[in-house]
Order: sequence, then structure tokens, then C-alpha cells
Amino acid sequence: MDTFLKEGRWSQALEQIKLWARLNSPWVIHFNSGSCNGCDIEILATLTPYYDVERFGIKLRGSPRHADVLICTGPVTRQARDRLRRIYEQMPDPKFVIAVGSCALSGGVFDGCYNVVGPIDAVIPVDVYVPGCPPRPEAIIDGVVQLLGKLQQGARP
Ligand code: SF4
Repeated sequence: MDTFLKEGRWSQALEQIKLWARLNSPWVIHFNSGSCNGCDIEILATLTPYYDVERFGIKLRGSPRHADVLICTGPVTRQARDRLRRIYEQMPDPKFVIAVGSCALSGGVFDGCYNVVGPIDAVIPVDVYVPGCPPRPEAIIDGVVQLLGKLQQGARP
């Protein structure tokens, strides 16, 4: 046991267990930072039993303190900017962000509006981008699977 601890294999094993848990239960929180609701309806459709995302361990949480992945839609409005930042800061590390929809990626049709700050990555770091207006549930699931694939390779995207 002493040798096991000295060689640091205990901490390695712990890291592997954490990675295994992270890959098999990515709990998500959803935030609309200013979208028209089109993308949000697709996210809700994605979470229904029809697409059965729980087979990947994906579960919607109500609190950022319980979530690993923040799924964001829409451009960031001035009103939502501080809330988005606060939600991101409340999530435990390591945390990941998926931007869903053209508006989340670039501002989309809202780009240049007086009340819009910009895309999601103008306010918080984004790990995976899912384009589309709105993207289909299959594309959203693909975004989460892309994130898990990158985590499995051991690299933060
Ligand atoms: S990408 Fe399209 S559906 Fe999504 S928020 Fe923008 S305009 Fe609405």
C-alpha cells in the first residue's frame, strides 16, 4: 500500500475515476442569453425521451453548481451579460461551454443591435460550437459527443 501511495498511483487512479465519471455523466445547464427561443425549443426537444440523451448520461440540472456543461443559446444581450458570467463562475471546475445556434456563434441576425454585446465567446470561453438556425437535436447531441470525445483524448478542447 505504501509503495502504491509513494508512486503516486493513487492520485492517478483518482484522476481516472474522475474522468470516467465526467465522461459518463455530463450534467448540463441551459441558459438563453438573448435568443429568439428557436434554439431553446430544439434543446428541449433534444432532452425528451424521443432522443434518449440519458444513454450518454446527459441530464439537465437546475443549478449551475451541479452542472459540468453550460449550453448557451442566442447572442448575449446587455441585460444577460452579467447573469451569464455569474452562472459560469458558479459552475465547479472543470467546466465546459457549448454555444448552440448561429446567434450564439456570431450574433447572427441580432449582430449590431443596440442591446447586443456579441456572441457567447465575447463574454465566456466556449469549447464547442454548434451552428444552425436553429440546429437540429442531432446536431446538439453531436456537439456534446464532440466535447466528450475531446475530453476522452485527455485534451481540453
Ligand atoms: S440561431 Fe436562429 S433560432 Fe437560434 S436564436 Fe438565432 S435566430 Fe433564433
